[in-house]
Amino acid sequence: MSLDILIFGAHADDAEIGMAGTIAKHTAAGLKVGVCDLTRAEMSSNGTVERRTEEAEQASRVLGLSCRTNLGLPDRGLYITPEQVQAVTAEIRRHAPRIVFAPYWEDRHPDHIMCSKLVQEAVFNAKLRNYMPDMPAVQVKATYFYFINDIGPTDLIVDITEHYEQKEASLRCYRSQFEQGEGIVSTPLNQGYIERVRARDSLLGQRSLISFAEGFATKTPYVVTQFGV
Ligand SMILES: [Zn+2]
Repeated sequence: MSLDILIFGAHADDAEIGMAGTIAKHTAAGLKVGVCDLTRAEMSSNGTVERRTEEAEQASRVLGLSCRTNLGLPDRGLYITPEQVQAVTAEIRRHAPRIVFAPYWEDRHPDHIMCSKLVQEAVFNAKLRNYMPDMPAVQVKATYFYFINDIGPTDLIVDITEHYEQKEASLRCYRSQFEQGEGIVSTPLNQGYIERVRARDSLLGQRSLISFAEGFATKTPYVVTQFGV
């Protein structure tokens, strides 16, 4: 399926934490948006792979995603290897998105950093005609980086105020990660994490008098067609 926007995360819930509001805003505008999770998060302290798969499907419905895929790469085993770069490149070529999103290149979780690197390698390779020549080359127009656990230097913000309820509804689908209870291991995710994401998104909008915003970084200059519009 061809997509306008393809977002990569290491684990289901990464894309929602960083940019569910932006996703909802774009699907509401009629754009085709897909998420590709690189792993099944089998190393996660809470929840089973099956439960997380169901939760990801629910969150995808809340956000109106056109597709959600999982490459089944090893959790805590993401590295720049030819096979893993090929798997991510093939996903880009299958969907031929104009815009790709990856996790920001610094984060407390090493898998998020590796996901960021793998996607950058794959975006580069996707346009090379002689690399995996069985699939047509794809030139991605722009790559942006979203924040999961940390906030880095923010180059762009998107006003997601009107879609904030949808963002929180998508996060609440991941009950195995964000809820506490008997037999649940305490992690940063189930100690007020959704509230902290809300506080971050509020703070990101503060200087622009926007109630809630999601921030993004870019490594290439952002092209402005005309100032003041
Ligand atoms: Zn993650």
